[in-house]
Amino acid sequence: MNEAREPYLLTPGPLTTSMATKTAMLRDWGSWDEDFNGLTASVCRRLLEAAHATETHVCVPLQGSGTYAVEAALATLLPWDSKTLVLTNGAYGQRMIRILKYLGRDLTALDMGDYFPPSPSQVDAMLADDPAISHVAVVHCETSSGILNPLEAIAEVVHRWDRRLFVDAMSSFGALPIDARALPFDGLASSANKCFEGVPGFSFALLRRDVLKDCADNAHSLSLDLYDQWDYMNRTGQWRFTPPTQVVAAFASALDQHGAEGGVAGRLARYTRNKAVLVEGMRAMGFHTLLDDRWLSPIIVTFHAPGHSNFNFKDFYQSIKRRGFIIYPGKLTQVESFRIGCIGQLFEEQMRGALAAVRAALDEMAIPDGAPRLEDLTKPVF
Ligand SMILES: *Cc1c(COP(=O)(O)O)cnc(C)c1O
Repeated sequence: MNEAREPYLLTPGPLTTSMATKTAMLRDWGSWDEDFNGLTASVCRRLLEAAHATETHVCVPLQGSGTYAVEAALATLLPWDSKTLVLTNGAYGQRMIRILKYLGRDLTALDMGDYFPPSPSQVDAMLADDPAISHVAVVHCETSSGILNPLEAIAEVVHRWDRRLFVDAMSSFGALPIDARALPFDGLASSANKCFEGVPGFSFALLRRDVLKDCADNAHSLSLDLYDQWDYMNRTGQWRFTPPTQVVAAFASALDQHGAEGGVAGRLARYTRNKAVLVEGMRAMGFHTLLDDRWLSPIIVTFHAPGHSNFNFKDFYQSIKRRGFIIYPGKLTQVESFRIGCIGQLFEEQMRGALAAVRAALDEMAIPDGAPRLEDLTKPVF
């Protein structure tokens, strides 16, 4: 199956892109030219529209992968005397903690391990307890497990305590609804190669205009200073430093396709269908999801590794790859797992193809079913 085609990427980005997106890269652009400036402006305008943030926020793009936008947004938004409560339940929450340590900004953390979302009532108690906490940072969809955190409820608590919110919406923006009119955030970061289905090469932050105008002196780094990037772009229409021109052109095409699919709602419907087909088919083979149904996201799903003694991830991966699909290793601390993504140019047909590849891989390894080790299924009680 599919031997002639490049493999489908069932991963959380970079992901499988459409032919139209790839084709949009076959042109050279002058980085100072008005045609390219127009492309950048339209990309920023459409990203603000997707979050209903045109009235309140600005969009600042930045060269580099998603982490660059997270680090730059934190460096730009956080005053030197700020203290940030980081809500973490996986690798990307942990990464924000590392970033704050590099930045030399004070922080405290609520660490939920791998399985559970931070609860709004715990956040409420921590904010009540510590008036020095000025900011809260949260990951919307924690891609290391696929867990969907209760962003709206957390934002409500943060707002009630009059603290400022930063959201890593890397793997959710474009597919899960984010409405700045109802969700009070100062900053939100995402990147080109996730749910908008562009190619990797730049990231972006939506920053509250009223807040950003007072952030000229926060950043420790020239290249990561989003105030400077925004100010320069505002005055000239250009990026400060060499922009990834082909990537921006591909992204503009990806945004056209996002709109044609019905925007956020259309994309969410397709990813939700992908997830349903995937989870049902994997469960029929005996696999278990790491998370309870109520926390599963339509972005990526973590499965326990089969408990059978013949199983090893490397051979499983290679066997599935030979059949035309790339899956993703687990990123958990405690149990053996792997992940299968639902995002990118994937449809029900590809999800069924991936399921057939998983079945064939199990057969090849003489593993009857995907049932995990019993002891891996006991989770801490919450
Ligand atoms: C992909 C991702 C990032 C950024 O990762 P990069 O490798 O820098 O692109 C950050 N946070 C989350 C939740 C992600 O899914």
